[in-house]
Amino acid sequence: MCGIVGYIGKRDVAPLLLEGLQRLEYRGYDSAGLVITGKPAAGKPAALKMVKAKGRVRELEARVPKRFSGTTGIAHTRWATHGAPSDENAHPHMDPEGKVALVHNGIIDNASELRRKLEADGVAFQSETDTEVVTHLVARSQAPTLEEKVRQALQLIEGTYGIAVLHADFPDRIVVARNGSPVVLGIGEKEMFVASDVAALVSHTRQVVTLDDGEMATLKADDFRTYTTEGSRTSATPTTVEWEAESYDMGGHETYMHKEISEQVDSVDRVLRGRIDDRFSTVHLGGLNLDAREARGVRRIKILGCGTSYHAGLIGAQLIEELARIPADAEPASEFRYRNPVVDPDTLYVAVSQSGETYDVLAAVQELKRKGARVLGVVNVVGSAIARETDGGVYVHAGPEVCVVSTKCFTNTVVSFALLALHLG
Ligand code: GLU
Repeated sequence: MCGIVGYIGKRDVAPLLLEGLQRLEYRGYDSAGLVITGKPAAGKPAALKMVKAKGRVRELEARVPKRFSGTTGIAHTRWATHGAPSDENAHPHMDPEGKVALVHNGIIDNASELRRKLEADGVAFQSETDTEVVTHLVARSQAPTLEEKVRQALQLIEGTYGIAVLHADFPDRIVVARNGSPVVLGIGEKEMFVASDVAALVSHTRQVVTLDDGEMATLKADDFRTYTTEGSRTSATPTTVEWEAESYDMGGHETYMHKEISEQVDSVDRVLRGRIDDRFSTVHLGGLNLDAREARGVRRIKILGCGTSYHAGLIGAQLIEELARIPADAEPASEFRYRNPVVDPDTLYVAVSQSGETYDVLAAVQELKRKGARVLGVVNVVGSAIARETDGGVYVHAGPEVCVVSTKCFTNTVVSFALLALHLG
C-alpha cells in the first residue's frame, strides 16, 4: 500500500502534489503519477491532464510540462501488487474517453473476474493493474452524480482500497473512499487536501478528518462532507494533528534512522510524562477506560501486532506476567485473524501498531469487537483507525516515525507496556 495526495483550492496544484508525494517517499514505491483538472478553454469542458513515470518522484517531476496549470488534482506513489512497475501501470488510471481519473491504494480481490466481464463488454484495458477495473466501473456508471457513480462501482468490488477520483464533468470536486487503506482529509482555508498519511498534509494544515472503513467524502474548495458507502451522512469534526511539520524533516541528521535513534531520550521522556505516581508506586493511564473492578476480572492477556509491534508485544507479555502476575502472550495479528480463535470474555486483548492502520491488526480488532471482546490499543498515531476502534488504550507518544525500521517507537511501545503492566499490577 502506498501513497495518495490530492488538493482542491486556488493554488497551482502540480507543485503541491509533487511536494506531497515527496513527503510520502519514505514509504517506498516503484512509480508515481499525477492528474490535474486543466483550466477549461472558452466554451469547452474541463479536461484532465495526466503525467506518470516509473521510478522516483523526481523523474515524474521532470516529465511535468512547463505549462501545466490547474487548481485541482490527485497524485499517487505505487507499490505494485498487480502488474510490473511501469509507466502504464503507474496510477492514476483513466478511462478511454479521459473523463475519469482514479488513484488507489490496496488490492481489489475480484479484479480478474471483473476484468473478464468488462473485456467481454468491449472495454480495452491500458494496464495490468487491479485498479483499472474500478476506473472503468466509475466511467461506465450512468448515475447522475460522481458520488453515485463511485458508490455503484464500490458495490461491485471486493477488497481493500483508499481511492481518490476526479471527473472532467464534475470539476468542482474530488470524491474519496476508504476500506482498509487510510484516507485523511486536510481542512484548509478555502482549500482542501486529501492524503493516505498526515505526513503529506501537515505543512499546509493540521486540521484533519480521518475516514472510517466504509466511509466516503466529497471535497470542494470551500467545503467537505462525509457519508457512508450506502449514502447516509456521517459527522466529521476535524481534529488537530499534534505533530509539527518540522518533525517530519531530517533536522540536520544524515538519515531518518539516525535522527530517530537520537530522539529516544526525548520520546521516552514523553511517554512517561504525567503518568508515574511515585507516592503510590503506580501509573495513571488516562485513556485506558478499564476501571479497577474490570482490571481485577482480567484472567489472561493476549497481545496482537505485526512485525516490530509484535516483537514489542513479546516483551510486553513478559513485563505483564512479571509485574502484574497475569498470564500473557503475544501473537502475530496476521495469524490470529485467520485461525478462528476462541474469544474469551475474561481475556483482555491488546492491539499494537505504530501507525494505528496496520491492516491485519485492524481486521483482528474488528473481529474481536464483533465477538464481544474487550480490546485495548497501544498505538502511536492519535485518532488512527485502531485507536478509534479499540475500547481504550495507551498512546505511545513516540512522535512521527518516518524511517521504515522502527527504533524510537519500538522503545516507546516497550515502555508503554511497562506502564500498563505496572498499572495492572
Ligand atoms: N493494487 C494496486 C496496483 O498494483 C495499488 C498498489 C498500491 O497500493 O500502491 O497498482
